[in-house]
Amino acid sequence: MDKYEILKKYFGYDSFRGAQETLIDSILEGRDVLGIMPTGAGKSLCYQIPALLTEGITLVVSPLISLMKDQVGNLNQAGIHAAYLNSSLTAGQYYKALALARQGRYPIIYVAPERLMTEAFLDFALHAGISMVAIDEAHCVSQWGQDFRPGYLKIPDFIAALPRRPVVGAFTATATREVRDDIIDIVRLREPVVMSTGFDRSNLYFGVMSGKDRYGAIRNYLETHRGESGIIYCLTRKQVEEVCQKLIRDGFAVTRYHAGLDDAERRKNQDDFIYDRAPVIVATNAFGMGIDKSNVRFVLHFGMPKNPESYYQEAGRAGRDGEPAECILYYSGQDVATNRFFIEHNQDNEELDEVTKALVAERDRERLQKMTFYCYTNGCLRDYLLQYFGEYGSSYCGNCSNCLTQFEEKDLTEAASALLGCVRSARQRYGTVVIIDTVRGARTAKIRDYGLHENPCYGALARMPVYRIRQVLQELQIRGYVTVTDDAYAVVRLTEKSGEILDGGQRFLMKMAKETGNASTRSEEKKRGKSRYGADDSAGAGRGELLFERLRSLRMELARKAKVPPYLVFSDKTLTHMCIQQPQTKQEMLAVPGVGEYKYEKYGERFLECIRAFQNSSG
Ligand code: ADP
Ligand code: MG
Repeated sequence: MDKYEILKKYFGYDSFRGAQETLIDSILEGRDVLGIMPTGAGKSLCYQIPALLTEGITLVVSPLISLMKDQVGNLNQAGIHAAYLNSSLTAGQYYKALALARQGRYPIIYVAPERLMTEAFLDFALHAGISMVAIDEAHCVSQWGQDFRPGYLKIPDFIAALPRRPVVGAFTATATREVRDDIIDIVRLREPVVMSTGFDRSNLYFGVMSGKDRYGAIRNYLETHRGESGIIYCLTRKQVEEVCQKLIRDGFAVTRYHAGLDDAERRKNQDDFIYDRAPVIVATNAFGMGIDKSNVRFVLHFGMPKNPESYYQEAGRAGRDGEPAECILYYSGQDVATNRFFIEHNQDNEELDEVTKALVAERDRERLQKMTFYCYTNGCLRDYLLQYFGEYGSSYCGNCSNCLTQFEEKDLTEAASALLGCVRSARQRYGTVVIIDTVRGARTAKIRDYGLHENPCYGALARMPVYRIRQVLQELQIRGYVTVTDDAYAVVRLTEKSGEILDGGQRFLMKMAKETGNASTRSEEKKRGKSRYGADDSAGAGRGELLFERLRSLRMELARKAKVPPYLVFSDKTLTHMCIQQPQTKQEMLAVPGVGEYKYEKYGERFLECIRAFQNSSG
């Protein structure tokens, strides 16, 4: 068999994506590789396919039990023998797996890094004929990242101990230069073929929403996405409890996850989510590392996370199967204060000296500010994120709430001048709230105490709504016409650029949402009849939806019997393709992406029956 036949027979796909083929070819030629590809791009196949094409065993080093389980489950479902060796096995199970491995039963073995240098494992590895070591989540070797795992530092020693040096491949979704260089150095890759395919996840819709009733907004979202799987991230445990309770009261099948629950409950809730018994999970950021569930259709944030790195990582858990998915952030002004509190009371840095601690806190405040700008920008959200990670996006992606909002350009020079003038004449001593109160002419005790009712700009914007004034001040900050100090007082200061407007007569134009034009999201498009099941009229879309529902419940039934998570039976993407192609024969079913021969034998007939029954019911 060649690589294409393996791709088709076991995994059910017709062609490789992105850098996959180059990486596979390089490995087959005996070269080391470093693959940097975003979540969901398909890194696993890059080492799994060579493993099936070469003599000897491929060891996959993976940081988490849940990831190993998921991947081994996936391979077993595809008819490939694979096993994992980690602390979830009893001693008996462990030695049994090793014995089978010695007999050559597994072309692919997943192992936790801490095992590598243990006596029992080394004894096996030195005689086993290991042809490749694949390092998954390779950024775990780097202390720069958030996921540093000391165990990963054992990998080079292990490789050096082997009688023949295997091919070494490293894979990660983290693309910063420091991490990349660390991986190459620490793992000692030899002239690796490095492929980096960028950060963009084009199937993800990004949205930002503000508003008083965040709970109501999220409930409505779930209402229109019944049956879909999703994650709702909250900032605090208390919020998780509240949101979860309310959703249960309102009749949704949700579960919860945070560090305050005991191990057993956390594990149970996570499993309920993975097995789709509770399709929605409300969680703090403690949840998600090691979640490879491919059919997460939405990630909602009830509150703004602490920085764009966290946001992209959490939001990125949506749509791993490449199907459309939505990431929506519901923010409120209070989120900034909550996050500031976390920064000031960060317990993770206790062992650092005062100077380093202060530096870390300052960096955290800067990142928080970048996150805040994400919530306020009127530009393309995808572009904002990509630029933050040092990539060029395009200024229009057509798949985020800003690109889908109708904007008009408004001249806000008068408002900008009033705000800047106020800051200058008040000698840059006051915070945002006081400045805004001054220009809108508020009669508060503070304003009188400070004598600001005599400021020349007092009341200059009395007729402008407060939210609008705040928007203008935000925009002045984003574009560098003022800075706001990063402490509790948020004092507004002028910059070199301020003079361009104050004295230079420069105009200040702003993109503003048209009052009538509402943001449109993927969900709204769905309502209008543009379906991802192919049909363009609303009746057809409704039918597609119905067939999808039936296939999904069949999948659930089969998954229960096989005791595997439903998305390991077939991914959402595969079900969607079944809806579009509506296969009638074995041949046609095998042409559906994700249906390989082994899975066809196991499940194919049942799905064909289901499609046939559906067609007959349509009359
Ligand atoms: P990563 O580890 O890069 O996040 P995975 O290896 O888990 O991604 O793959 C994500 C999804 O993409 C899986 O459902 C996988 O089956 C699918 N996939 C991988 N390669 C292909 C391909 N060439 N064509 C279609 N789907 C693919
Ligand atoms: Mg992966």
